[in-house]
Amino acid sequence: MRVALVNPPWTFDGSIYFGCREPHLPIELGAAQVLLEAACHEAQMFDGALDGMDMPAIVEAIAAYGPDLTVVTTAPTYLFWRCTQPEVTVPRRFLHLLGEGGGRTVAIGPHGSATPRAALRKLGCDVLVCGESEEAIVTLADGRPPLEIPGLAVRADGDVIVTGPPLKTRFTDLPALHWPNRWLRNHRHHHHRFDQEPTGPGAEIEASRGCPYACSFCAKLDFRDAYRRRDLAILAEEIDRLLQQDVTYLYFIDEIFLPWKELLELLERRKVEFGIQTRIDLWKPDMIELLGRAGCVSVEAGVESITESGRESLNKRCRMTTSQLTERLLHTKRHVPFVQANLIEVVTDDTEEVERWRDLMRDAGIWANDPVPLYPYPSSPDYGKLWGTPDDHAWERAHAHYLAQFSQLSDVQDERPLPLEMLECDEVA
Ligand code: SF4
Repeated sequence: MRVALVNPPWTFDGSIYFGCREPHLPIELGAAQVLLEAACHEAQMFDGALDGMDMPAIVEAIAAYGPDLTVVTTAPTYLFWRCTQPEVTVPRRFLHLLGEGGGRTVAIGPHGSATPRAALRKLGCDVLVCGESEEAIVTLADGRPPLEIPGLAVRADGDVIVTGPPLKTRFTDLPALHWPNRWLRNHRHHHHRFDQEPTGPGAEIEASRGCPYACSFCAKLDFRDAYRRRDLAILAEEIDRLLQQDVTYLYFIDEIFLPWKELLELLERRKVEFGIQTRIDLWKPDMIELLGRAGCVSVEAGVESITESGRESLNKRCRMTTSQLTERLLHTKRHVPFVQANLIEVVTDDTEEVERWRDLMRDAGIWANDPVPLYPYPSSPDYGKLWGTPDDHAWERAHAHYLAQFSQLSDVQDERPLPLEMLECDEVA
């Protein structure tokens, strides 16, 4: 079967989206492509940003390709599934414009993983995959009837049938991904790098998937939840392929880049620079030193609260005191050029104490952000605590709660966001 894998050209006007807006490799589509090719299907990726195509151009290109199956993601790469934009405006507009031109239409992403019926209705696609989608896309391409495949939402007789809970892929043996040269040439962005300007192409890569923790705010219950580590030899193959394509910086999209000595030694031998997100309380000093020697130039560390009780309220399961965490961050800064300590707005944290701690970090050259308000994503434990199992109105409920709760937004959001109903209203016209 011929399959189009689509990352549409994103816009976020009026959105609460606070993820990075630069182009990134659509890892979930790259993963689907290698599995489709291994199963003897033909697959081509289309990426609005990396191909430099606006919405009409990408629709025209896909129609010219003539796919039997068109897969569109509802979030801009796996990197942002946990902090996605709540609205599905862009993929919905894409599917509307594509019409019958792409064969059977399939949506993947965090929206349908949490609320499959509502997302399928909003998007207007034929099928939606809940959870991690790569293997289900292959099964669809194999021609198995959607109603027989677990983990899908399927349009049937004017209704939507959900065939099972969200899916989790095997991942550990996912073959090395490959990216077109022209995409990498256009990929000048080095994600979360602030110590210097890019000197060559950047790329995103995935060494592990999921996380063994269950922080209350973390939206991963329906995807990328269980921790799995990828085979090291496959990772080496993918890294070497990227280096041969002149990539100078890698960003590991892993939810939590856990200490992994063999991978760090592999990176040290290759002398490539890279960035990670992690929990610094899980790194011993000698491993932090190895991290720096391996080429890490950017660490984003989830601290969340400056108090032990605050971290406990978020179910961080952090075994360190705040002063131990502070020392660990300072040690990291001695070995890694850019270190960020992420903070979340926790009502019990004293504002002046938070500012003092941020000053301490700033004096050491570490960026501790203005604490960000929590968005109770439907795939997070916080959503369940507030309202129980997500229903068809979960995104609207979470969005209204978020807008009502905070009069002032964080320093990573500049615009006044709109209610979800307004964002998704009538945009296909
Ligand atoms: S440690 Fe990070 S990835 Fe894991 S649950 Fe907490 S916030 Fe999510």
